[in-house]
Amino acid sequence: MDLDPAFRDVLLAILSLSFIVFVALFGHVPALRKTPIGWGHHFIWKTLPRWFIAIDVKITGGLMVRTVKGLFNYVMYEKHPLIQLFYVGLVSGGLYLFYLGAWDRLWSTFHKIMVPIISSLPYITLYLASYTDPGYILPENHRGAMKLYPFDYINFKPGYHCSTCRFEKPARSKHCPICKHCIAKQDHHCVWINNCVGHKNVKYFFAFLMSTNIILIYGFYLTSIMIHELLVESLPAGTDISKLSWGAYFNQYMLCLVLDVCLGVVCLLCLMTGLMSIGFTGYHL
Ligand SMILES: [Zn+2]
Ligand SMILES: [Zn+2]
Repeated sequence: MDLDPAFRDVLLAILSLSFIVFVALFGHVPALRKTPIGWGHHFIWKTLPRWFIAIDVKITGGLMVRTVKGLFNYVMYEKHPLIQLFYVGLVSGGLYLFYLGAWDRLWSTFHKIMVPIISSLPYITLYLASYTDPGYILPENHRGAMKLYPFDYINFKPGYHCSTCRFEKPARSKHCPICKHCIAKQDHHCVWINNCVGHKNVKYFFAFLMSTNIILIYGFYLTSIMIHELLVESLPAGTDISKLSWGAYFNQYMLCLVLDVCLGVVCLLCLMTGLMSIGFTGYHL
């Protein structure tokens, strides 16, 4: 098979990165312990950090390691907007590439109207899910929160106290150590919205998940059709596309993904993050 050198490099980079991630995540499995994969795992998690610490102690007296530890604690156990910023960056970057590679190829006024509308939804729903009170239980609304849901006497029984908030826990509430409050009908603390998902913002959380799915599915739909059109244009004049084998079509499709890089990146990004996002939504339902 003749591969475009640029495409081959991208493919090699993706394969190498996948292999390193695999070694880092699964190299500790007993069956792999005495194999190069097991040694690789040991190198990534034991040898490299030891080198890093030794160099750091020599050069900065251990400042780097302390900073990394502090950052890790901040990222894991504090309320911070880093993941929200990552999300906004990813969506904005994707939209910018879409504007560069795909906007002029949109084939109807309908899509030229729909794209801005659908593109704005993730920002709006992220804002609503992030900044709506998820249902903080405070001394002043504690009486009302106690009446919100009845105790089921299985998972939620009366008489339990939150040692931090110092009041009786209402049914279906949980204390979130990151938000530092008890939350009414707490589902989980979500790093993507930097907020708990609870009684008052669960609808916005689902709107956020759905709008993310919609923009990714829509983006994949539009760009994959555009790449198909690019493919038709790239074939020698007079080629009957219906006579192409699936293998030849696939190969040509891969070539077209790198022919217009902006379009190709948006298409692949929508496909991969879309699968993740749909899986994530299924998990939360
Ligand atoms: Zn509490
Ligand atoms: Zn929380």
